[in-house]
Amino acid sequence: MRATLSVPCDHDAQAACGSPPVNDEQLLRYSRHLMLDAIAIEGQRRILASHALIIGAGGLGSPAALYLGTAGVGRITLVDPDSVDLTNLQRQIAHNLARVGQPKAESAAQTLRSNNPDLQLQALVQRADAALLDELLPSTDVVLDCTDNFRTRQLINAACVRHRKPLVSGAATGFDGQVSVYDTRRGDAPCYACLFPPDAAYEEVACSTMGVFAPLVGIIGSVQAAEALKLLAGAGTSLAGRLLMLDALSMRWDEITLRRQSGCPVCG
Ligand SMILES: [Zn+2]
Repeated sequence: MRATLSVPCDHDAQAACGSPPVNDEQLLRYSRHLMLDAIAIEGQRRILASHALIIGAGGLGSPAALYLGTAGVGRITLVDPDSVDLTNLQRQIAHNLARVGQPKAESAAQTLRSNNPDLQLQALVQRADAALLDELLPSTDVVLDCTDNFRTRQLINAACVRHRKPLVSGAATGFDGQVSVYDTRRGDAPCYACLFPPDAAYEEVACSTMGVFAPLVGIIGSVQAAEALKLLAGAGTSLAGRLLMLDALSMRWDEITLRRQSGCPVCG
């Protein structure tokens, strides 16, 4: 089997392209990615060399973190101030009954480590604020917003615009989900605030009062993982400039085109 997984560049070439060498175990572990033309060895090397910041280790953060970890994102930082509660276990699949009461960031890191001991994991038991984001973003390649409150979403978006980092944003409540990529490295691509102005009065809809369909967060969080991995590997076309909306009761997806707003207070 290993003969079919030969690396198409020698060690000198690897040094020249700047990516870390891939060892035999990694060739096996990631073989199903290496078989994909859009990822292959170069894309997997980029994934292994990258740093993802996941904010929120709940319903969306669980599947997003699990897939980034199993797929070999070399460095993952998880940020969440909350602890695991019995009511979380219905949908937050990175946690388990034995970890009720433990910080979610540490519980999720423990699950990721048990699948893939090579990962560099950092679990931060705190709320993401502007100071923390300014500290973390310079070394981050992609940011995943897996939070559930509007104020934090705006802080994350503003930091991503400031540091020119791609933001993969998901939201889920009831049976309704939304997901997009806000990548202001692209001149025409909108930021989150182009769509949801920071000063607008939105009714905060928390899943603690509204309820949330368990697999909905799995679907949306998995799309976030897919978009993050594509951005890291340089594969395909991202969701930048498009918002996907899911009604899971009818299992119908809609897509709308998003445009940068010249008067946006964040990126305009
Ligand atoms: Zn904007």
